[in-house]
Amino acid sequence: LIDGVISAAHAMAEESAHSREQLRSLQAKVEVTEAELIQLHQELDNASALARHDPLTDALNRKGLDEALIREMSSMRRKETTLSVSLLDIDNFKQLNDRLGHDVGDGALVHLADVTRRHIRPSDTLARYGGEEFVILMPRMPLDKAVERAESWRCKIADIRVVFGNFKLSFTASAGVAAYPDHGKMPDELTHAADTALYGAKNSGRNRVVAYSPAQP
Ligand code: GH3
Ligand code: MG
Ligand code: MG
Repeated sequence: LIDGVISAAHAMAEESAHSREQLRSLQAKVEVTEAELIQLHQELDNASALARHDPLTDALNRKGLDEALIREMSSMRRKETTLSVSLLDIDNFKQLNDRLGHDVGDGALVHLADVTRRHIRPSDTLARYGGEEFVILMPRMPLDKAVERAESWRCKIADIRVVFGNFKLSFTASAGVAAYPDHGKMPDELTHAADTALYGAKNSGRNRVVAYSPAQP
């Protein structure tokens, strides 16, 4: 009987050592899987950021802008406050490209984005709307203040000097400003209002900022 009990105890001890070993190996596997999961999440985040950014200027691209606009508009609706939108467009950019080349044009885009990014609030959003057009979303910003801010960016852009050898490039930009909800309750309506204001700025001589007015054509 005693021999039986001893050998059963040995068998149990062996089994429990084996189970402990199995548990350790499972824990190690779980740790590896967790690390892989974290890496996959990071890769997904990177891919998602890449899909929403313009590689030249590092501003949000159109897809990123569309999402940000929907997000900000619904946030402003909940908070019952204003979202101002500025559409900023380089003046006579086609001429600049034709005269000095596409690379110089690209340099102008990068500098404009850098200067604007340095002078917006952390809660603002800078996006490349397309070509030489940029959008700045300004949450909780009334139209008149947004126009003042767009005016200050316009001045800073006009002060940019991009040095290419012994040549210094300068250029100007115009902006149209509109506000949610007064000038549009849907994203397309709001950007259309900012575009109408921009059209007014271009028509009245460029290098200026115009606020949307319902009386505009
Ligand atoms: P306006 O003052 O009325 O805005 O005139 P504009 O010449 O700036 O406007 P237009 O729409 O006639 O020309 C825009 C030019 O922008 C044409 C296109 O070649 C150039 N462009 C668009 N995307 C890029 C880009 O990524 N890099 C460069 N270098 N040029 C670009
Ligand atoms: Mg232009
Ligand atoms: Mg344009």
